[in-house]
Amino acid sequence: MTDREQLCKEFTELTGGHWHEWRIHYTPNGSKFYCRCHSDIYLEAMELPDNPTYENPADVLKAMMKRDDYDDFLRELQKNHWLEIEEFIEKYIIEPGALLKAAVEWLKAEAAKD
Ligand SMILES: [Zn+2]
Repeated sequence: MTDREQLCKEFTELTGGHWHEWRIHYTPNGSKFYCRCHSDIYLEAMELPDNPTYENPADVLKAMMKRDDYDDFLRELQKNHWLEIEEFIEKYIIEPGALLKAAVEWLKAEAAKD
């Protein structure tokens, strides 16, 4: 798993989602796969649902918007220095993975408070 995939997995799980971890099962007819979400259902490689990539920052925001503390997250992004909209776009939208990374760090810090 790459660092990026690890980050996506953490974000998915911190926001209540499921991250598929396919395990291979060899049969006389070839390899099949299963994940705990499919219990004992074995799928062909081409049938495996993809895990989210969050390449689009909108996907990160959509997941964060579902949370009651979404406003707190937005405030945290502006905490250290008030960001102008241009700075926000450059720092969190244009920079690949920056918003995802910020969200994971914030979610972990929030989880550690409980
Ligand atoms: Zn799964």
